[in-house]
Amino acid sequence: MSQMSNVLDAVVARVVARDPHEPEFHQAVREVLGTLSPALERHPEYVEAGILERLVEPERVILFRVPWVDDAGHTQVNRGFRVQFNSALGPYKGGLRFHPSVNLGIIKFLGFEQVLKNSLTGLPLGGGKGGSDFDPHGRSDAEVMRFAQSFMTELSRHIGEQVDVPAGDIGVGGREIGYLFGQYKRLNNSYSSGVLTGKNPEWGGSLARTQATGYGTVIFAQEMLRGRGLSFDGRRVTISGAGNVAIYATAKAQALGAHVQAVSDSSGYVVDEDGIDLELLRQVKEVERARLSVYAERRAASSAASGSATAVRYVAGGNIWDLPADIALPCATQNELTEADAETLIRNGVQVVAEGANMPSTPGALAAFQAAGVSFGPGKAANAGGVAVSGLEMAQNASRDHWTFEQVEAKLTDIMVAIHNTCLATADEYGTPGNYVLGANIAGFTKVARTMLAHGVI
Ligand code: NDP
Repeated sequence: MSQMSNVLDAVVARVVARDPHEPEFHQAVREVLGTLSPALERHPEYVEAGILERLVEPERVILFRVPWVDDAGHTQVNRGFRVQFNSALGPYKGGLRFHPSVNLGIIKFLGFEQVLKNSLTGLPLGGGKGGSDFDPHGRSDAEVMRFAQSFMTELSRHIGEQVDVPAGDIGVGGREIGYLFGQYKRLNNSYSSGVLTGKNPEWGGSLARTQATGYGTVIFAQEMLRGRGLSFDGRRVTISGAGNVAIYATAKAQALGAHVQAVSDSSGYVVDEDGIDLELLRQVKEVERARLSVYAERRAASSAASGSATAVRYVAGGNIWDLPADIALPCATQNELTEADAETLIRNGVQVVAEGANMPSTPGALAAFQAAGVSFGPGKAANAGGVAVSGLEMAQNASRDHWTFEQVEAKLTDIMVAIHNTCLATADEYGTPGNYVLGANIAGFTKVARTMLAHGVI
């Protein structure tokens, strides 16, 4: 055991020494490799074949300049990234993130997680991730379009239906995918529907892709609750974020009878004692792209007008994890839930935490939840519904077919339940019942490792 730990420690040390300025990537590698010892004890051939060293090194990193002209006529220059991490199981697959915090280390952490997540879905998908430090907030549609066209002009050289299939992530939704797809189509003079996922269902997208990550996270959490003899019905739920994942996690949790009391954005959080008004939330965030404070103002105004006394409050700059909740679904961004937040949630009686975002819990938070016996579903398992339906979108594009919402949702549910059961079965097999983190990491890893071994040293 300790010999294997030494091997793993040496791999982590090399990752840190090679790229010292990538703390999020180090964190993701440490978290995964920290759980792999028992699998490697059983399969020393993976170590002998250098699988670990290859797993932490992307197959290809593409970094490019993205020049564009803003509405005032000024030239702006952003940086574009695509990390093609691992293609053992299929074409590189993973989203594009447009956010000012984006750098190579963040894209590498997301790509590394994506490899194992995609493996867990059971679909033939490799792992990759990309994006830019471009901030779409406050930009006009015309600016977003010019930026997206410039970004795709370079990216188009490196992607393709059988090569690399990007999708959305933070800051990249239906509007951005539309501009990116349009430019790809123009440059290639071919209608390659399968080159991007997250498209509008009117021109090649899959129904239920918009909902998939949020729905999938709640389906996964429902299975976790079932294991404790509980359900969403009547339970208080806190959901961080107010974007794509958070909105559809809210929708699904409410459909299952939950009381979703609060959501957040990067400026603060809103508590709605009557439960979040989903239609208003969608109007404010999806249609108007406004701040969450607008939700609170509108909700208060409409309840005053109707004479009802809805208790809604907006807490600027507040910490959403201070609220007592039975179930917490972090759906905003990495490292948004700290060890101190975890301790507050535990003190307040949280029972289940499922990550809709990627790596939202810090290592200290994760350890605290596990030590307290809280069921903890890591992002690479709990939020895999998005990429799973992206895989289903690729299947529909390849067969020129179009499935109904119900068909896709049924497949999504099957996939999420299967991932849940795989995590638990793997945790059992390795003598750590209920440890979803170990189960997800080992199950995701072993399939990739077996395949890399079969493909030889490449
Ligand atoms: P969106 O851009 O739609 O929404 C992101 C939300 O998180 C916004 O409310 C945003 O607030 C908030 N947020 C972003 N960055 C920060 C920050 N630094 N601090 C506080 N709040 C922040 O993105 P998605 O909903 O698509 O993605 C959310 C998470 O889910 C990400 O971790 C993503 O990687 C993960 N994910 C997404 C998938 C998908 O299919 N979309 C699939 C799997 C995982 P504000 O507007 O104020 O910035």
